[in-house]
Amino acid sequence: TEFVNVIGAGLAGSEAAWQIAEAGVLVRLYEMRPKKSTEAHHTSDFAELVCSNSLRGNSLANAVGVLKEEMRRLNSVIIQSADETAVPAGGALAVDRDSFSATVTKKVRTHPNVTVVSEEITEIPSGITVIATGPLTSSKLAEAIKEFNGSDGFYFYDAAAPIIDKSTINMDKVYLKSRYDKGEAAYLNCPMTKEEFNAFREALITAEVAPLKTFEKEKYFEGCMPIEVMAARGEKTMLFGPMKPVGLEDPNTGKRPYAVIQLRQDNAAASLYNIVGFQTHLKWGEQKRVFQMIPGLENAEFVRYGVMHRNSFMNSPELLRPTYQSVKRDDLFFAGQMTGVEGYVESAASGLLAGRNAARLALGQKVQTMPKETVIGSMAYYITHAEGKHFQPMNANFGLLPELPERIRDKKLRYQTLAERALSQLTSEFVVSN
Ligand code: FAD
Repeated sequence: TEFVNVIGAGLAGSEAAWQIAEAGVLVRLYEMRPKKSTEAHHTSDFAELVCSNSLRGNSLANAVGVLKEEMRRLNSVIIQSADETAVPAGGALAVDRDSFSATVTKKVRTHPNVTVVSEEITEIPSGITVIATGPLTSSKLAEAIKEFNGSDGFYFYDAAAPIIDKSTINMDKVYLKSRYDKGEAAYLNCPMTKEEFNAFREALITAEVAPLKTFEKEKYFEGCMPIEVMAARGEKTMLFGPMKPVGLEDPNTGKRPYAVIQLRQDNAAASLYNIVGFQTHLKWGEQKRVFQMIPGLENAEFVRYGVMHRNSFMNSPELLRPTYQSVKRDDLFFAGQMTGVEGYVESAASGLLAGRNAARLALGQKVQTMPKETVIGSMAYYITHAEGKHFQPMNANFGLLPELPERIRDKKLRYQTLAERALSQLTSEFVVSN
């Protein structure tokens, strides 16, 4: 193959193009902006940050910090550019957004192996191709992807509930039970007294919500109802909805609590749980404050907050391999938010892996996966092995990594051990030596 096509010069596409070019393979990078924009982008630069200017935690004490370090060692243009344009932000890696995007644009555009084409792509091209057109993929291409993948191949969601790291739930306060004891006991139940319920409802109603973008408004009302809207509807609305206690009597007392919040297992390893029916538009800080009022969740660690916005993503467990290759076409890769990884850094990380594999294919080499013990590998594994039916986009988090041989109770030490293991496993050919 003469060229590898990369479609979309966002976080994932810029990284993929860079990796391919650095491997000595020619890239044609297609980007539709500025001719055509999305509802969230404002500039014509590559890797525009559509919202926050923070790439989140930078220390090895959190998974996205470990992911950054892995990417640094793998010659990531996104992390290099972020390091070069960082602004003070405590433990986070935040950037001057304009300098950051300008830096990525310059590095990628001036790479001798990269040709940039300012064009909207409306069909899936033939030849080795990485599609990285993001959650706001233009509609014609979105249609083409949907058709290629089969009818349910490209979801559109505007509601997701928060997800919690199970190891941070106070198990003394919750109990395992399915409603009416039907089937295997599958839910963790958080019981509330009347007083707790009233205080919780009040907090929900008065908490601060995130502003809606205009293009999101119409969708908001079609979608399922955010929990704070339900709370405001009436005193009893939640009690007949997601907080219904019937059939959830506490096995320890035999009594029915006034209200119950259920947590549902979210991944095969049962290390993550979501709050059933709690899709929400509350600000992230508010979610933490209000949901930590739930008995058992006082110290809960949220690996992903609830969101309500447009986000097209594929049902990757059915459609992708951990190399980011389509199950249907060896030479077609998908990367970025559209594969169900969530966040700027996660999107770039998937572009890194997809790009490297596209380059390997072009060079006649075998494609590679990354070890599951690495954060980059754990994300690829998660999106291709999660349960397809309830698949939701996922941030990098320690809950995705395989368990340690021995359980370490101290959270700080546990995370440190997981981080060290991740970096020590990063020894494949993918690592650049310099
Ligand atoms: P993008 O960065 O969106 O890149 C896709 C690129 O493809 C764009 O440049 C687009 O112009 C181009 N494109 C689209 N269709 C075509 C086509 N047919 N032909 C050619 N080019 C095309 N994550 C965070 O970590 N922090 C946040 O604060 C945050 N806020 C978000 C706010 C909103 C409104 C949305 C939608 C998402 C947000 N995300 C956030 C999630 C995610 O991290 C970003 O969407 C991120 O930009 C995803 O990277 P990507 O490379 O997959 O897509």
